[in-house]
Amino acid sequence: MNLFVFAARTFVLIGFLGMANPALADASSYSVVHGWPSLPKGHALGRASGVAVDSHNHVFVFHSFDRDWSEPLPDDAIEGTTIAVFDGATGDMIAEWGNDMFVMPHGLTVDSNDNVWLTDVGRHQVFKFSHDGELLLELGENRVPGTDSTHFNLPTDVAVLDDGGFFVSDGYGNSRVVRFSSDGEFEFQWGKRGSKTGDFDLPHGLALDDEGRLYVADRSNSRVQVFDREGSFIAEWTRDRVGRPYGIAVDNSGSVFVVDGGDQPTSPPDRSRVIRLSSAGETETIFGRFGNYDGQFQMGHDLAVGEDGAVYVVDIIGKRVQKFLPL
Ligand SMILES: [Zn+2]
Repeated sequence: MNLFVFAARTFVLIGFLGMANPALADASSYSVVHGWPSLPKGHALGRASGVAVDSHNHVFVFHSFDRDWSEPLPDDAIEGTTIAVFDGATGDMIAEWGNDMFVMPHGLTVDSNDNVWLTDVGRHQVFKFSHDGELLLELGENRVPGTDSTHFNLPTDVAVLDDGGFFVSDGYGNSRVVRFSSDGEFEFQWGKRGSKTGDFDLPHGLALDDEGRLYVADRSNSRVQVFDREGSFIAEWTRDRVGRPYGIAVDNSGSVFVVDGGDQPTSPPDRSRVIRLSSAGETETIFGRFGNYDGQFQMGHDLAVGEDGAVYVVDIIGKRVQKFLPL
């Protein structure tokens, strides 16, 4: 085989792989923003587990300050601040709060009124705060897990409807999604541990789109399940498209972003990356991979998309948040 034929065959092969695997075709579709954020001297993030963007382009990160994961989880609250707020454009830290309150931070969601919703898997609770950290609503019982309408067991995330009603993914302990009214009254729930349609095995992240479709990152089933706001099943996106989805977000055009944390337990994980899909579940682009360098993740855990299309990804092992811009 002469060199030309070899080159041509290689080109065809790369072209074929490029079509079959969008990771190759679009590996440079997003670029990390180096030097974002700029933490004040002496500040560091702990295990960064939740991220969301508000209407002011403020980026909220929920992290564990100086606490690492241990089992059993400790009883006492983390003394340091667990909420860090950054200016999305500049990366400057503009606020901190959430000290002396949380045992093991997990999910963070900002609703359309800029309220901040948090889940604490150490306290088995869900909280609604104002933008500036005033406690507005508290659900569940502190450090008491349960399966009924007033308890959670290691709840993971919240998604908020336009009317203020909200969903909770619950979670590591239970395998259900619960819907509440805007004032926190239990409405209904669905799901049990399993792999059939409508079952869950670690519902770990939630997102809602403008049409009220609820996307559930069904992590240990390696799929995303899509439901309507009444909990009726719409669609399932399987492992080949979403890997092992840890976090999920929808942008203002309806595209769905998934952070694939890779298969666990392996060390190191086989992958960690972000996948953007259409609302119909077609893969549009993939970026990022496992690693320590800028633009890589040790374990991508949650992500958020700003109005400007910037994507923010928190890395729970790497203890950081990174910003990516579309090219
Ligand atoms: Zn704000």
